[in-house]
Amino acid sequence: MARRPFIAGNWKMNLGPAAAGELASSLKSALMDETGVDILVAPTALAIPSVVDKLRHTGLLVGAQDLHPANNGAYTSQVSGPMFREAGCTHVLVGHSERRSLFGDDDEVVNEKVQASFSSGLLPILCVGETLSQREAGQAESVVAAQLHAGLAGLAPDQVVSTTIAYEPVWAIGTGVTASPDQAQEMHAFIRSVLASTYPSFVAAQTRIQYGGSVKPSNAAELLAQPDIDGALVGGAALTVESFVAIVRAGS
Ligand code: PEP
Repeated sequence: MARRPFIAGNWKMNLGPAAAGELASSLKSALMDETGVDILVAPTALAIPSVVDKLRHTGLLVGAQDLHPANNGAYTSQVSGPMFREAGCTHVLVGHSERRSLFGDDDEVVNEKVQASFSSGLLPILCVGETLSQREAGQAESVVAAQLHAGLAGLAPDQVVSTTIAYEPVWAIGTGVTASPDQAQEMHAFIRSVLASTYPSFVAAQTRIQYGGSVKPSNAAELLAQPDIDGALVGGAALTVESFVAIVRAGS
């Protein structure tokens, strides 16, 4: 079964409810008829209701950027999976490198969040990727394999298939430096081989693996043409209609 392309925009801590709603309206007009690709935007938690409202009855999906593993309780400032689900989200990013490096999300917490996504009816986008020093030390594959095994621990094969893996080399996020199509393809093929050696064969064949790290209109087509790259997780270039639409079109 062919893997359907999946392009996601991570708006990070940009765009409040009004600006996010405006971008969502523009994306709706531009992308409503784009049927060959799954499209998702992940606004700040506060802007989710306004974006969900604007994208209602379109195929465009809304995701959260993170979740707390508990359903509710004394966790000041946090938002849980069931709350995002109730607000209209379908997906949630888990283990983004900014969560790992700035907020201390280790592999154990990442796995708790992946499990919490499923128990609240959200599909996780599990982000993995090595730092520059890890790559230079020849550890890129071992780091990514460890993040994958830990992040997916305890999931049934059909849950792994419903998880999107986002390979995001940390050295390429927000830096303007993109992994070359060959470098990205090599790691995506490696990720698929890890899935193949861990789960029944349909898992590696069907699980979607996005590339993330300075994806822009000028490099999207070449990256997305690689056989094991099934989509993109886009940061900076997801913040303007023109660039995000161009990336989506490159993937469709
Ligand atoms: C990201 O943060 O997921 C990302 C890939 O950012 P950028 O596209 O800006 O590098």
